[in-house]
Amino acid sequence: MDVAVGFDIDHTLAIDNKLERVALLHLLDRIVAEGGHALGTLQQETDAIDELLAHQRAGGSSIDEAVHRFAKERGGRSPEAYAEGFRRLCLHMAETFIIADPEAKRTIDRLHALGVPVGVLSNGWNPLQTAKARRAGFMGTVLASADIGARKPEPEAFAALCRALGVAPAACYYVGDDPAADIMGAMRAGLQAVWLDNEGRRYPPDLPPPHHTIRSLRDVLDLLPAAIS
Ligand SMILES: [Mg+2]
Repeated sequence: MDVAVGFDIDHTLAIDNKLERVALLHLLDRIVAEGGHALGTLQQETDAIDELLAHQRAGGSSIDEAVHRFAKERGGRSPEAYAEGFRRLCLHMAETFIIADPEAKRTIDRLHALGVPVGVLSNGWNPLQTAKARRAGFMGTVLASADIGARKPEPEAFAALCRALGVAPAACYYVGDDPAADIMGAMRAGLQAVWLDNEGRRYPPDLPPPHHTIRSLRDVLDLLPAAIS
């Protein structure tokens, strides 16, 4: 029986400890040093950065466009050059900021040992999302929304994952923490939606419940057909 498992990254396989927020604060330092200016207090800047990144993650812009806007609004001397510096800094920070879920590598290794194809689908940009997946022990291709031109919860994003894994949607489990992007998206695309709730949260009552709820990543192994696990 063909079965595959796909994973979300952020807050599923790993946490990034606000890596991009900190990288933008470092960029602000550079902008000010080069004659630009902050728009408010450090707290106001942090709030503005969170808003900018939330807009970007929701599909409002590319990461380069977000950095460009950030620099331009603060009188940055060379907004275009900052985007490359920002991306480079994020990758440099990945080593220390990204912490994998303690169960991630073991679960992925076990799935591989069982012959189950494993994929990763994430709203974000490469190579940062790939760097996060590597920290969690995933060595395959990471499908990032900026590369595939579709973002969760759009069905096209999940269709790209199923194509990459070589299985029909109904044979693919998708594990994620976000009820709207991961769970609703996976269900609409015909996948088996697995909600990772390792914080004891309440599932939003206005959304259709997930097919499965797990408390730890390793619990996904218990969902597989008996013939496999
Ligand atoms: Mg997530």
